[in-house]
Amino acid sequence: MKAVKQFLKDADIKAHDLRHRRIIRTALGNYEIVRDKRKASYQDWQQARQLAAETKWEAINHLDKYLDQLAKNLESRGTKVHWASNAAQAREIVLGIVQEKKAQSVIKSKAMTSEEIHLNDALEHAGLKVVESDLGELIVQLRNETPYHIVFPSMHLTRYEISKLFQEKLGSAPTSDPEELTMIARRALREKYITADIGITGANFAVAETGMISITENEGNARLTAALPKIMITLMGIEKVLPKMEDLALFLPMLATMGTGQALTGYNTMYSGPRQPGESDGPEEWHVVLLDNRRTELLADVEQRDALHCIRCGACLNVCPIFRNVGGHTYGTTYSGPIGSVITPHLRGLQDWKHLSNASSLCGACTETCPVKIDLHHHLLHNRRNAATDKPSFFERLAYRAFAFAATRPWLWGFAKELGRLGQPFQKIVEGGPMDPAKAWTKTRDLPPLAQETFRDWWRNRS
Ligand code: SF4
Repeated sequence: MKAVKQFLKDADIKAHDLRHRRIIRTALGNYEIVRDKRKASYQDWQQARQLAAETKWEAINHLDKYLDQLAKNLESRGTKVHWASNAAQAREIVLGIVQEKKAQSVIKSKAMTSEEIHLNDALEHAGLKVVESDLGELIVQLRNETPYHIVFPSMHLTRYEISKLFQEKLGSAPTSDPEELTMIARRALREKYITADIGITGANFAVAETGMISITENEGNARLTAALPKIMITLMGIEKVLPKMEDLALFLPMLATMGTGQALTGYNTMYSGPRQPGESDGPEEWHVVLLDNRRTELLADVEQRDALHCIRCGACLNVCPIFRNVGGHTYGTTYSGPIGSVITPHLRGLQDWKHLSNASSLCGACTETCPVKIDLHHHLLHNRRNAATDKPSFFERLAYRAFAFAATRPWLWGFAKELGRLGQPFQKIVEGGPMDPAKAWTKTRDLPPLAQETFRDWWRNRS
């Protein structure tokens, strides 16, 4: 089914699914309170946002320089750097490493870029056993689903549903205690870390100055994924680069504040290369795959380039009235919510995904909350404008001509309005039915009644 038809169908179902809406409301119930409490601990939050936006501007507008610096510094300590211009190439690179090492099993920590290139499918197709180590990712993997949210992949599920899933798939005893559920996943995963041949991670940031990858997490699973298998592969979008180490002092707490309302996440680790002589642990080999996948096309778009500033905190999803009503899976994309609606048409094709730009009330809550000041709701408008390349249909042109003809002839405009007023009682009778000429509108909204007194009448009758 075409993406737009599927979106409309799923959005209709989800928007009417009161249980789903209740779960999302509960999951996000405290988000704004804890986030705002954290924001209040900054001396000046707006100043921090401005600095973050300027730092990302510097990185993105000099991406060639910083990527080159990053790659050189990574390579200087023995890391193998690969450049992937598209999803197919990135999959090929990873599969090439996996096949060269004759690997049988892979353990992964959360990486949205791997979702973007459908890496799990490719690895499983090649006969590998792939296990997600992030709790939320593991849950959606066991359900054969994609992540629901870029920060909280299984946010749409209750603990009872997770307990049932674990009973079925992991053979655990029933429990609704979140801690016990975590322990069940932990027990199931421990052995996988030890036996996996390859660990695959994403990256939150990459520091050009030092050639280091920064991963921020709460479960410690990324650390184990990176430390225990002999081979480590990091897959990251090229926009993750930051110029300097000191930039992390701003971005790590900012990401935690906006993502989960924490001051800092539980684990913040810097990876600088494979195991060096004399070191007792760490991978023997480390590969970093730098993924373009049409990001440079977005970079070439001066108007919307700042969409590459995104640090994937998920804050714009959490405050978006559309996301909260239709849910993450409805978008049918890797990146959902406002940022997904802005970048997906660039990453996957404007004409097929332009409908996402209309899935917005343009309230601006996303722009207001974004910590790196991406002008999200205006970019949705830019996408709408850019998508409107089709010639209007014959009827559309006729309607605009008729409107222009009437609107430029006051007597005709007044007459048309009188006609409309006369027809209004009939509209009430046919409203919503097959004979309703405005049924596309009245199916989901009220047709506003015409005012009893027009502006022209009022002007004529004023004392
Ligand atoms: S667009 Fe802004 S608010 Fe949305 S995920 Fe990216 S950084 Fe966070």
